[in-house]
Amino acid sequence: MSDLSILASYAHPDDEQGIVGTLRNALDEGIRVGLLCATRGEVGEIAEPSLATPETLGTVREQELRRAAEIVGIQHLYFLDYRDSGMDGTPENKDPRAFINADESEAVGRIIRIIRDFKPTVIVTFDETGGYGHPDHIAIHRWTTKAFQLAGDPTCYPEMGPACAPRRLYYASIPRSARQRMNDYMQAQGIESPENPRR
Ligand SMILES: [Zn+2]
Repeated sequence: MSDLSILASYAHPDDEQGIVGTLRNALDEGIRVGLLCATRGEVGEIAEPSLATPETLGTVREQELRRAAEIVGIQHLYFLDYRDSGMDGTPENKDPRAFINADESEAVGRIIRIIRDFKPTVIVTFDETGGYGHPDHIAIHRWTTKAFQLAGDPTCYPEMGPACAPRRLYYASIPRSARQRMNDYMQAQGIESPENPRR
């Protein structure tokens, strides 16, 4: 059993898919793995109407994430209990329960509580673009970074447990080359590309 541990900090159920292979490899090496999810993805797109309604989507996605974590072997799953803020410019941005409208010190405190409970040596989250600019992705990037910086300071958030300083913070990014390949493929298929690969 390794003394290393990774906490992946993301915004919605399914955000973790970009690094789930890395998490599975870590588990195979005896590294403890935790997953933090800020929301339940309540306002995501419903691809298959028979599986969820806008009212049930959060519960359905929470169950999917719990089941997915079980299959991968992730035993430590945390929710911050905020609401999905929706894509930039949508009415859900204004919901007072939305993650992007959370009080910053409260949101950072909730992440610090999880860091001090799980005691990761490494934290991984989105880069500053949030992958593709989703406001919740950018918020979890910003607040995870702040929590990483403060979790080891015993004078910060003493009510959230004994100080614990993770050693490293990594930002997972989508390589430009991968976006370019996807773009090229879509063009070749005659599909209009929603991505700007140089962003
Ligand atoms: Zn997401």
